[in-house]
Amino acid sequence: MGTRTLHVTNTLTRQLEAVQTQEPDHLRFYSCGPTVYSYAHIGNFRTFLTADLVVRVAEAIGWKVSYVSNITDVGHLTQDDVADAGGEDKMEKALHSKEGEQFQNVWDLARHYANAFIDDWDRLRLKRPLVWPRATEHMREQIEAVEKLIESDHAYVTPTGVYFRLSSFPDHGKLSGNRDKEQLKVAVRDVVQDDNKEHPGDFALWKLDDKHLMQWYSPWGWGFPGWHIECSVMAMKYLGETLDLHAGGEDLVFPHHESEIAQSECLTGHEFCPYWIHTRFLQVNGEKMSKSKGNWYTVRDLVDGRGVDPVALRYALISVPYGKPNNFTDQTLKDAARNVERMREARSVAESASAAQVAGEDVVGGRLVELYDKALDAMCEDLNTAVALAQALEGAKLIRESLTDGGSADSAKASLLFLDQIDALLGIAPPVETAAEALAEAEPVVEGKPIAEWIALRTSAKASKDFATADQIRQTLDAAGIELRDTPDGVIWKRKTSM
Ligand SMILES: [Zn+2]
Repeated sequence: MGTRTLHVTNTLTRQLEAVQTQEPDHLRFYSCGPTVYSYAHIGNFRTFLTADLVVRVAEAIGWKVSYVSNITDVGHLTQDDVADAGGEDKMEKALHSKEGEQFQNVWDLARHYANAFIDDWDRLRLKRPLVWPRATEHMREQIEAVEKLIESDHAYVTPTGVYFRLSSFPDHGKLSGNRDKEQLKVAVRDVVQDDNKEHPGDFALWKLDDKHLMQWYSPWGWGFPGWHIECSVMAMKYLGETLDLHAGGEDLVFPHHESEIAQSECLTGHEFCPYWIHTRFLQVNGEKMSKSKGNWYTVRDLVDGRGVDPVALRYALISVPYGKPNNFTDQTLKDAARNVERMREARSVAESASAAQVAGEDVVGGRLVELYDKALDAMCEDLNTAVALAQALEGAKLIRESLTDGGSADSAKASLLFLDQIDALLGIAPPVETAAEALAEAEPVVEGKPIAEWIALRTSAKASKDFATADQIRQTLDAAGIELRDTPDGVIWKRKTSM
């Protein structure tokens, strides 16, 4: 320890660089979280998993990590990726959708999806941040920041809101390279321009709207904050005026992160963050995920709906390094499930050997130390998960081959140490209890029978035209919170989401 450091491909410089923390061995790290107006999809989780891996690697090399990730629970607008923030409110739109009927109001809706998000986060074994700040709980700080920006002439008030004055920040565009193109980008979008703005690229810090479903009183009247200001304010509140590393999805480079930099640096007068990393999009079956193409998956679609082991889903999502496109297919998931199974087998073989307490020499320890070192080196080199996972699998293979027919207690001890270290680094070799829990989670038992057995009974009842029994089974499962669906590929079950 102590000799390794984390290298990342820094979006600011487009170079692979060693992260130099301000304080030795202490990483101040901020990662943008979700907007909670629906269930996060697996592409979102690919991004959150990159942040999780940063934390794990930093801890593995002996750093202290201050990790903050926000939850955007204010209804921002469907076009808030353009400077005017026009369009429909995302939360309001969700509330008026079919799924939204179950909620009393937008607050209720945001709370429901925030809870579901944390649930999915835990199931995929992501480490919880030190703070999970929510935009609605930092309204005072956001208003104060906007006031300060107005006072220092970096922002101005119009009849429709408060806008950031881009011309006051010559460094705008340093992250995305969008300098001249920026005006073009705004121009090609079909948005109603606010004539009150000085420049079309000036972005909203506060929108006046006394009809908005979520609104707060501000010195400029009733309204709500622009999307970008919350991250500047919450990152600096919990991590200080300069962070070490900031992460997010590739779609956040412009305008979100560019705007965060502009606001923050105008507020403090110095650099906001020297290192930035962005996760590439997840493709599903070779295409961008979209609801209309039917390749849009949430964690619950796969884990609850199809019984996928959440650890296997995690494995699949991290199997390709964050800077490369990851094409997620059924095969990816199958391979991941098999590999996680291999990790579990290694764990159970090592546990048995450990329980047997046979004297003898350690025949695996030396090789396992080498494999773990290689995995950690790979993770330090821009989070190369492909190489790191290969070392994990090779170690698991060695453990299975060496200990299946009994091994010494010392070999068992070295094996368990390796699996614990790999699990701390990558989160794919859970301890046996967790594995059992995860399986129970994936395959619920109702009145003493696994779900698969109920489905088989119902299928045979239907085949023999015993519809009363088939119906009875559906009701029993329904009462246990399990919903059955007949699909062309057979019967699938889904856990009914609780309110
Ligand atoms: Zn953000």
